Amino acid sequence: MTLKIIEECIGCGTCVDSCPLGAIVESGDIYIITDECDECRACVDTCPVDAIVD
Ligand code: SF4
Ligand code: SF4
Repeated sequence: MTLKIIEECIGCGTCVDSCPLGAIVESGDIYIITDECDECRACVDTCPVDAIVD
């Protein structure tokens, strides 16, 4: 299982601050979840458009 950010992302940045490991980063005009992620799922519920999925 690997979490990813899908194209429904509106770029609000909320998930970045929700991650205790700093595993979500802005890359160009998109956000990505890096290998630092330990799948704690803290970010999943913070996304207003449910763009972080398995
Ligand atoms: S699941 Fe947890 S560690 Fe992974 S990106 Fe989301 S908040 Fe960060
Ligand atoms: S919280 Fe959701 S919409 Fe906002 S940047 Fe993260 S993935 Fe995109």
